[in-house]
Amino acid sequence: MERPLIDTFGRRHRDLRISITDRCNFRCTYCMPEEGMQWLHRNDILSFEEIERLARLLVERHGIESIRLTGGEPTVRAHLPVLVEKLAALPVDLALTTNGATLRLVAHDLAAAGLKRINISLDTFDRDRFIAITRRDELDKVLDGIDAALEAGLAPVKINAVMMRGVNDDELLDFARFGREKGVVVRFIEFMPLDADQNWTNESVVTAAEIVERIGSVHPLEPMPSSNAPAMRYRYIDGQGEIGIVASVTNAFCDTCDRVRLTAEGKFRNCLFGLEEYDVRGLMRSGASDDELSACIEGAVLAKWAGHQINQVQFIRPHKSMSQIGG
Ligand code: SAM
Ligand code: SF4
Repeated sequence: MERPLIDTFGRRHRDLRISITDRCNFRCTYCMPEEGMQWLHRNDILSFEEIERLARLLVERHGIESIRLTGGEPTVRAHLPVLVEKLAALPVDLALTTNGATLRLVAHDLAAAGLKRINISLDTFDRDRFIAITRRDELDKVLDGIDAALEAGLAPVKINAVMMRGVNDDELLDFARFGREKGVVVRFIEFMPLDADQNWTNESVVTAAEIVERIGSVHPLEPMPSSNAPAMRYRYIDGQGEIGIVASVTNAFCDTCDRVRLTAEGKFRNCLFGLEEYDVRGLMRSGASDDELSACIEGAVLAKWAGHQINQVQFIRPHKSMSQIGG
């Protein structure tokens, strides 16, 4: 690796999130409006070859060590295992985040293509509530998708649960029980102001402190050593596994953030909440060399700010929803 991605605050970037599509078979309230999404045109989305070129450059030249494929819903992209196979050939920790609804169909092929780990989003165990949150009646398919991922040997399987006050916070202990019984890691995510419908309020956030307190009072927890990963980790004292909490709102991990992003339309972003995007697709399609791509990416990283300011009055919401940026 010749040129690590270090910003002006000395943070070295090792983690890349690639959104491979803005489309989705769900319409989660915290992520997308029910109607009216304008999907990108097929030609505007990065091809597998373009994604591979950028990923290779970022890994081999700039020291990226982990890549997560996301979206939109990555499994709606045709021939996903082909892309996984290309990226799995790089010296990188490769993972995928999915809503899980079609995993029964693709989990085996993804594992065979070289995918090791997977995060599956699930916010409730109640069918009516699931329909209200995702606007789709697919709870059974997602639960079956979790089993399919386990059967395909993907490990660890992690469950992403966005906790929202008055929506699903009464299921905290059900999630803890599910994780303990199934042998999966539940990652509780604080609700972030990236919902297209703009219903987010500070009060709707179920804080990390509350999550630890409520679960820990029934199943005692102890903190685990933290790495650079955004999730704070706790293990059950009785040895029945662990949980993670992504406290993006109440305990922003911006100080140690090592993540950069690529959107489905080939825009490089230095922060989920950033307002700037850098057009690497345009550069590639106009014949840019690797050196020119590197210069653009390094400029983007140098321009990274100290951190988002969700809790402050000057916070400006990005103009895009989570599904468009790539969660
Ligand atoms: N479609 C895939 C899925 O749902 O897992 C991948 C994309 S989705 C945008 C990635 C993750 O972002 C999911 O775990 C989802 O729950 C989370 N997410 C979406 N909107 C969010 C919000 N406003 N606050 C917190 N997490 C959010
Ligand atoms: Fe789709 Fe994932 Fe957004 Fe839900 S969270 S609408 S599944 S992209």
